[in-house]
Amino acid sequence: MKGKVLIIEDEEEIGELIQLFLSNEGLDSFLAVSAEQALNYLDRESFDLVVLDLNLPGMDGFEFLLDFRKHYTIPVIIVSARSSDEDVIAGLGLGADEFVTKPFKPKLLTARIRALIRRSSKYSQQQRLIFRFGDYELDYDGYLLKKKGEIVNLSTREIEVLRFLIENSGKVLSPDDIFTSVWQQEYGDISAIAVYIQRLRKKIEEDYRNPQYLKTIHGKGYIFIKDFIK
Ligand code: CA
Repeated sequence: MKGKVLIIEDEEEIGELIQLFLSNEGLDSFLAVSAEQALNYLDRESFDLVVLDLNLPGMDGFEFLLDFRKHYTIPVIIVSARSSDEDVIAGLGLGADEFVTKPFKPKLLTARIRALIRRSSKYSQQQRLIFRFGDYELDYDGYLLKKKGEIVNLSTREIEVLRFLIENSGKVLSPDDIFTSVWQQEYGDISAIAVYIQRLRKKIEEDYRNPQYLKTIHGKGYIFIKDFIK
């Protein structure tokens, strides 16, 4: 598992100790000695998790969390000598995911960090299913197709046909398969499928008469070539 952790800890010895344990686990980390410095790091780099001390010079951990949660959804573990119920409730209430009290067992802390990173990366993959082919990026749930970052104009139905083809890439799909799955009706005008395929080709193929991605298998149907999916 890979991951990059931002540690916010003004006692550098503790911060470096956490860094050491994380690097033994194969995780990269950055150490910020103040909340202000951490916000600068967050501006420039992306992280998978934040380890947050509460008593910090300048902006404290609670103030940091309040600001941080307006912009970021990555998990936060508070590691603090403050351990009153009020502190724990306030920390979790402001959007921390876990609260570990000092002194902590490094192995336990790293186990929790790993578990949270694993959970959140699964979650974000589920949230955004993205297929890439050539210069294109299909955001499965957002119903968006982009070419080099620019939105390609597709109707909802066109996106649905493309989704179905890509989802089943490498398989030959008959017009009937496409019609039943996308239109979710058993009977209807199957000839519409050929029209949709042609429209999609005009939008995604360099030369729609000589398609690379979306091929016709004569007498069978259509196939989206799997090799192009990244
Ligand atoms: Ca401190």
